[in-house]
Amino acid sequence: MELIRIRGVDKQYKNGVTALCNLDLSIKKGDFVFVIGASGSGKSTLIKLLHREEKPNKGKIIIGGIDVAKLRNSKVYKLRRKLGVVFQDYKLLPKLTVYENVAFALEIFGLSSNEVRTKTIKALELVGLKNKAKQYPDQLSGGEQQRVAIARAIVNGPKLLLCDEPTGNLDPRTSMGIMKVLDVINKMGTTVIMATHDKQIVDKMKKRVVLLDEGKLVKDFEKGTYDNEID
Ligand code: ADP
Repeated sequence: MELIRIRGVDKQYKNGVTALCNLDLSIKKGDFVFVIGASGSGKSTLIKLLHREEKPNKGKIIIGGIDVAKLRNSKVYKLRRKLGVVFQDYKLLPKLTVYENVAFALEIFGLSSNEVRTKTIKALELVGLKNKAKQYPDQLSGGEQQRVAIARAIVNGPKLLLCDEPTGNLDPRTSMGIMKVLDVINKMGTTVIMATHDKQIVDKMKKRVVLLDEGKLVKDFEKGTYDNEID
């Protein structure tokens, strides 16, 4: 079943730069998709369009029946409830503990404090950080901080997880640890879309690979590697 349908999408920034051009892409429920391409090829822009940080100038973006391009600003929360986002720089709140950073993401849902506790602990367990719940972000390694960010993104059980260069600041070994967590989350049923430069990871995971070049989708392989996409 299709979760995401992108048709004829153009994105031009106000300075006149065309970041995406006539993009068509369908993503099935439960897929794991790498979005690769040179710096400036439009990977981040695609991620931003999917969580409505940016709007396309043209075309359709449908996620789980929601027309993302047309969605009113006052209704964007309906989309955001269905997805989680993980960034290269973690974006944790420094004055909150690990537990509070994750629990905070549940506040908008009006759950009881018991439900918040159960869900938060479950998410921290999943990323292997239950024992660090009381620490603050600056007491954690980069890899651990990214695990907290992942826990925060999935704590409400979203259908879709968007990751923009989640391993961009991490060494290869720590990066593989993060990929294992993302793989588990995917196998539990969440669709994952990850923009990355990381050749080693893409080659190892053997997932669907979509290659962007100057804003155009130029290749799409079911079980791809980095190199066979580039040449
Ligand atoms: P990638 O993630 O593949 O590096 P981006 O989506 O960040 O690519 O950028 C695609 C193109 O759009 C680049 O030419 C970039 O400079 C431009 N761009 C990205 N964000 C903005 C913005 N906010 N304003 C103007 N141009 C932008």
